[in-house]
Amino acid sequence: MPLTPSRQRVKQLLSTPLETIRGVGPRLVEKFSKLGLNTVEDALYTLPFRYEDRRTIRKISQLRNGCQEVFFGEILAAGETMTSRNRKKMFEVIVGDGSGQIVLKWFRYRRDWHKKHFAIGKKAFFIGEVKRYGAIREVHHPDAEFADGEGGMEQLIASDPLNYGRILPVYPLTEGLHQKTARKIWKEVVDHFAPYLVSSIPEEIQKRRRLMPLQAAMRQVHWPDNDSDIDQLNRTLDSGHRTLVYDEFFYLELGLALKRRGIVLEKGIPFTVEHRYTKPLAAMLPFRLTNAQRRVLGEIKLDLMQPHPMNRLIQGDVGSGKTIVALMAALVAIENDTQVAIVAPTEILAEQHFLNFRHWLDRLGLKVVLLSGSMTAKEKREAVEMIRQGAAHLVVGTHAVLQEGVEFERLGLGIIDEQHRFGVKQRGVLKKKGQSPHVLVMTATPIPRTLSLTLYGDLALSVIDELPPGRTPIVTRIVMERSREREYSFIRTELNAGRQGYIVYPLVEESEKTDLRAASEGAEHLAAAFPDHTIGLIHGRMKADEKEAVMQNFKDGRIDILVSTTVIEVGIDVPNATIMMIEHAERFGLAQLHQLRGRVGRGSAKSTCLLLRSDRCSEDGLRRLQVMTETTDGFRIAEADLEIRGPGEFLGTRQSGMPDFRVANLLRDGRILEEAREDAFALANDPEFLADMKYVQLRQVLLQRWGSRLELANVG
Ligand code: ADP
Ligand code: MG
Repeated sequence: MPLTPSRQRVKQLLSTPLETIRGVGPRLVEKFSKLGLNTVEDALYTLPFRYEDRRTIRKISQLRNGCQEVFFGEILAAGETMTSRNRKKMFEVIVGDGSGQIVLKWFRYRRDWHKKHFAIGKKAFFIGEVKRYGAIREVHHPDAEFADGEGGMEQLIASDPLNYGRILPVYPLTEGLHQKTARKIWKEVVDHFAPYLVSSIPEEIQKRRRLMPLQAAMRQVHWPDNDSDIDQLNRTLDSGHRTLVYDEFFYLELGLALKRRGIVLEKGIPFTVEHRYTKPLAAMLPFRLTNAQRRVLGEIKLDLMQPHPMNRLIQGDVGSGKTIVALMAALVAIENDTQVAIVAPTEILAEQHFLNFRHWLDRLGLKVVLLSGSMTAKEKREAVEMIRQGAAHLVVGTHAVLQEGVEFERLGLGIIDEQHRFGVKQRGVLKKKGQSPHVLVMTATPIPRTLSLTLYGDLALSVIDELPPGRTPIVTRIVMERSREREYSFIRTELNAGRQGYIVYPLVEESEKTDLRAASEGAEHLAAAFPDHTIGLIHGRMKADEKEAVMQNFKDGRIDILVSTTVIEVGIDVPNATIMMIEHAERFGLAQLHQLRGRVGRGSAKSTCLLLRSDRCSEDGLRRLQVMTETTDGFRIAEADLEIRGPGEFLGTRQSGMPDFRVANLLRDGRILEEAREDAFALANDPEFLADMKYVQLRQVLLQRWGSRLELANVG
C-alpha cells in the first residue's frame, strides 16, 4: 500500500537539511555534519547528554559548598600563577559580585585564549562545583558564559531567557560549536519540527504504559519545563525520555515479532523422528547426556517435526556440550534424507568438528565432508561436487560453505556454531542454500537477556544451563609478567604429571603477521625453558592439513604445550589439557578470556588458568581481570563485560548485526525494552494486525524504520 500523503509529508519534513534552519550557515553546517547531524531528524534525535540547573542564580556569598552552582560576577583579577604544592602552572581568575569573591582555577588551559577571554572588568555567568579550602572558595574548570549585553544580572537574564533562569540542555559539541549556539539551533529545530511527530502506537498501549504524546516528549527532553525533576532528567528516568526510548524499542520489537510470525507461516520440511541414527550414537557415546542437553534436544526435535522451519538458538556456556546436541539434531535431519551443514567461525574449529563428527559418522556409515578456505582447489572441487550430488550427508566448514557455487542437493538443516562471531546475514545466506531448511544457531558467549532479546529476538531460545558432571572448577590467577619463570616451574610439575597446556598470545595489532611473530618467538623461548617437553605452534596462517596435524598431535599427547594465537579461542576441545597461560591478558575482552579459559577444565582433573599482566595494565584492565578470578559463570562475566565496556564494544556492533539505537541504551533501558517487547509481540499476534486499517500508520512507520534492516516484506 502506498504511503498516505501525511506520512510521506512528515518524512519529507524530517529529512529537511539543517542548512535551511534559521541561523545555520555553511560554517555551522560543517560543524553539525562533523557530529553526524545533517537533517532535522538527526538533530531531534540527538538528545542533550546532560541538563544544567540554572533556575536559581546565586549571590557569591550564598554559594553552597559541594554543589553545582550558577553565579554571576565581574572579573577582578586574572592571570597565570603557580600552584603552591608542586609548582605547576595554572590560570587563576578572581570574580566578585558585591556580596563576596570567589577564585576560579584552570590546571589545563590555553594561555592566550584564557588571557584574552578572562579580561578584567568583563562580566559573565559561571557554572561549576563550589569547593571550600579553609576560608577560600574555589571552582575548578568552571564553564563561563560571557554576558553580551550591558547592565546587571537581572537585565541580562531577562534579555536572554534561553540561557538563564531555567533548566538548560547541554548538547554534544565540536570544535567551534558553542553551547549557546547549539542551544539556539536545537531550540529552533524542536520548536518547528517536533509538532509533526505523531505516535502511531495504539492509544491503549500509550495509556497503559503512561507514555507522553510523542511531540510533547520530544519537546520535554530538549527543553524541559522548569518544574521538572532535574535529577530524573539527568538519569533519563523522566517520562519524556521513557516515551522516546519505548517508541524506539517498540518498532524494533514489532518488526522482530512479525518476522518470527512470518517464519512460522513459512512452509518447511516436517521431519519424523525415528532414532535410526540417534539411538546408536547415544549408545556409542562414552557419557550420558545431561538433563539440560536432553531437554534442549527435546525442544529441537519438537521444532523439527513442525511443518514450518525451526529457527532456534542454543545458548550454553563453554563446555556445556552443545556440539553433541547439534550432532544429534543433524542425525535427525539425515534420517529424513536431507543434508546438514555446520558452519564454524574458524578453520581450526571446523576441522575439529570434522574430525569429531567423522569419528562417529563413519561408524554409522554416513559421509562427512569438510569445506574450508585453506583446502587446495582440487580438494574443494571434490567437496563441492559431493555436496551437490547429495553424497555428503554432513558438511562441516567455515564461511566457505556459504559462498556462491556451493549448492546442496537437499539441505534440511543448517547449523551455525559460535553465532556471536557471525552477523545476522550469514543466517539468511545459509537459509537460502535450501528450501526453507531448519536453522539452529549456537553461542557459547552467554548474552545478557536484554541484549539477546534484541539481537536474537526472532529466534526461539534453548538454554543448556548445566555442565556435564565431574568437572572441577578452574582456578584462575593473575600473575605479573616478571613472575613468569616461577609459573613455568608450576607448569613443569603439571606436565610431568602427564597433563598438557596452552600458551596464548594476543593479537598485538590488527595484523596477523605481528600476531604470529609474538607467538613464534614465544614458542622458541618456551622450547628453551622446557627442554624436556614438546612444544607445538599453531596459528591462523598455517595450511589446513598442517593445522590438522598439529591439533591431532596435541590431542594424541605428542605435543605437551601448544603455543597459539587466539585461533584456539573457540570450541577447541582437548580434555587432558589443564593449563592455560594467557600472555598480555589485559588486552583481551572478558568474553574472549572466558572463551579461552574454556579450553581447560574440560575433564575431571583440576585446571589452572594464568592471566599474565604487564606493569602497564590499567586500573580498568585490572578490574576486568579480577572478574575472571571471581567467577567462571559465563553469564556473570558477560554482564560485567557489558557494564565495563558498554554494549557496542561488547558485541562489536558491526559484526553482531546489532541495531544502533538513537535514544535507547540497552544497558540502561532493559526494563523498557521488555515492556515494549511484550506489547509488540501481543500486537503482532493479533490475527487482524496485518489487515486492520487502524494499524496502517503503524505499519508504515515500521517499514520506514526497520523494513530493509529486518527484511520485512508485505507488512504495509
Ligand atoms: P561447548 O558447549 O563449549 O561447545 P563441547 O560440545 O565442546 O562444549 O563439549 C565439551 C566437552 O564435554 C567435550 O569433550 C564433550 O565430549 C564433553 N561432553 C559433552 N556432553 C557431555 C556429557 N553429557 N557428559 C560428559 N561429557 C560431555
Ligand atoms: Mg563449541
